[in-house]
Amino acid sequence: MESRCEFINERILMCARDLVPLDVAVGLETTNDKLREECIGKGMKFEDYLRVVDIAHKLGVGIKTYLLLKPPFLSESEAIRDVIKSIDDIMGLDIQTRISINLCNVQRGTLVEALWRKREYRPPWLWSALYILKYCKGKYPELVLMSDPVGYGRKRGPHNCGECDKMVASAIKSFSETQDIRHLTDTFRSGCECLEKWKWVLRLDHKGYGTSLFT
Ligand SMILES: [Zn+2]
Repeated sequence: MESRCEFINERILMCARDLVPLDVAVGLETTNDKLREECIGKGMKFEDYLRVVDIAHKLGVGIKTYLLLKPPFLSESEAIRDVIKSIDDIMGLDIQTRISINLCNVQRGTLVEALWRKREYRPPWLWSALYILKYCKGKYPELVLMSDPVGYGRKRGPHNCGECDKMVASAIKSFSETQDIRHLTDTFRSGCECLEKWKWVLRLDHKGYGTSLFT
């Protein structure tokens, strides 16, 4: 069941749990409160999420946490770092949760669409999602990580060059179903011509702003 954090309290969760076997999925998006408020406008704090985690844990209800890759106003590498930092924060607090990474896409009538039309927003690269999953699964082998690249390969959805979108999205899906990191490492190794372009984009992001992910 998906819910916003503010709708969950102990009484409600207990009632629901007694009706059906239950996992609760909540959209944390990022552990960074400033970023969640200023780039996403979510209207909740990390502490609200922690309250839900506590209640769920107490009642034996499973948690699935959604993180958002690349809200507006972040560069590609800032977006990658934010998701990795969020996963590190969650793992550092020893929270029992599955983590699902949602890849931002361009919906009609949104600020993201207005920025996208002005070429000030590009949906995340599929390489970025694959990289995060590969890096974090390597670091936390027990963590159940997943992503469903909805709308992949379209201009408004997460995409690479067009040639490799299907291959990379399939690898992400296969990994999400099996948790076998080889789907990710093999795909990263076989690569595509656009893999170098993606790395170049990340380096460009960080020109003069500290170290790149790939120096
Ligand atoms: Zn490609």
